[in-house]
Amino acid sequence: MSENITEQDLLDRVTVGGGRGIHEPATGDLLGLAPRHTGEDLERAVTAARAAQPAWEALGHAERSARLLRIADRIDAVAEPLARLLAREQGKPLNGPNARFEVGACSAWLRATAATALDEEVVVDDGRQVSTLTYRPIGLVAAVGPWNWPLMIGIWQIAPSLRMGNVVVVKPSEYTPLSVLALVSILNEELPEGVLSALSGDREVGAALVAHPDVRKIMFTGSTATGRRVVEASGANLARLTLELGGNDAGIVLPDADPEAIAQDLFWGAFINTGQTCAALKRLYVHESVHDRVVEALAGVAARMPLGPSLSEESVLGPVQNAMQFGIVSRLVDDARERGATIVTGGAPATELGPLFYPITLVTGLEDGAPLVDEEQFGPVLPIIRYSDVDDAVASANRLDAGLGASVWSSDPERARQVADRIEAGTVWINGHGGVHPMAPFGGVKASGYGLEFGVEGLKAVAVPKVVTRPAA
Ligand code: NAD
Repeated sequence: MSENITEQDLLDRVTVGGGRGIHEPATGDLLGLAPRHTGEDLERAVTAARAAQPAWEALGHAERSARLLRIADRIDAVAEPLARLLAREQGKPLNGPNARFEVGACSAWLRATAATALDEEVVVDDGRQVSTLTYRPIGLVAAVGPWNWPLMIGIWQIAPSLRMGNVVVVKPSEYTPLSVLALVSILNEELPEGVLSALSGDREVGAALVAHPDVRKIMFTGSTATGRRVVEASGANLARLTLELGGNDAGIVLPDADPEAIAQDLFWGAFINTGQTCAALKRLYVHESVHDRVVEALAGVAARMPLGPSLSEESVLGPVQNAMQFGIVSRLVDDARERGATIVTGGAPATELGPLFYPITLVTGLEDGAPLVDEEQFGPVLPIIRYSDVDDAVASANRLDAGLGASVWSSDPERARQVADRIEAGTVWINGHGGVHPMAPFGGVKASGYGLEFGVEGLKAVAVPKVVTRPAA
């Protein structure tokens, strides 16, 4: 593909006349028209996928890994136009941990997935029998994604599925279909016909896909409410599930933490992608001895971070992606104010930038039970809650049904580890929050879902185990 390709070229590949209008969050401008795929398109995609699966499986691990590596190279070759398309559609700026970072993560994850092996394992060898655990492809994978990290999460679902010899039908979020369709078109330059396809449409298209009788595995990332519907749908086709659902991650700052030293990492833990991240810091419990210094240091970092248009090289914070989410953020901040909370910074829409811009908002003086603490805000606002006893902070972290991530901040790694061990979450970070690694399994507990992505565990999740047993020689 030419290195001179622009985001308009990518758009032209995937937009259709008469489709559904997709508007840029930063400007409100029409970006393009996304296809409205139908039940017939679903049947076509499933039929083509099933027909393609045996030959794709027969290629073997080495050849499939080689394809993933070639796809990673292709993504790198169009990284800039793809990042610009993502920035325009999703709203995240180009710089900071945003659009360019997300596209870079796509090729990094493809390469890591290509390099990961799921070897067979001898599970019994006791002199009487030898039993070997192997993994086979699962078949057709339905990959349903959200709007916050549409490309990266798409790759998290697609790459291991393809690596294991499966075929995939993707259903991107109705808010961000065009960048995912463009990504799929790039992947398809290296894939046999039918192995990977994408269906664009709203929640009905997602519902029809996950309920299809030929689907064997559903990779779902989205809200807990939708996750429950996916579980119900899988009652009919008995598809296996990986559910990456909503979070309400707690951070606990211990009394021995150095507020100024941790402020920058706390900031990005909470506000990566302008707070629209599943495993972002969403409620911060700070010991009373350092509370005011942490708040002041965080406000200082916030003041230095430019909020602005998605395509501006200056911006590291952007708009809220859509009006629905903007409404949630505004409602939670307004409710906090009405309860007498202190708005340290932010607190009202930045209308001078556009209708969906909301500034970084730090809120103190709230307690557990306030909606801003108990509900997932999924946007640029963070409640900071003062505590005096670490046992209470741990109890607060664990009292909600969410269990995706959490973090502990301390100058004493041993002490931090002891606290981390008491928190109910799929991942607990120490002196950081939200960093993921392609070899470290990632997944939630409680209402944040079940199943693991990444690394060897992620490959197992898109395969079916098979045990072969023979008498010992
Ligand atoms: P959402 O649940 O509204 O939508 C997710 C996807 O599901 C969309 O593609 C949608 O069209 C589809 N869908 C809707 N109804 C469906 C149905 N009945 N059957 C099948 N598919 C259906 O979520 P969202 O608003 O796009 O994403 C935000 C949420 O996702 C937040 O709660 C966030 O925490 C969570 N999230 C979790 C992770 C994670 O890894 N755990 C990552 C990103 C986002």
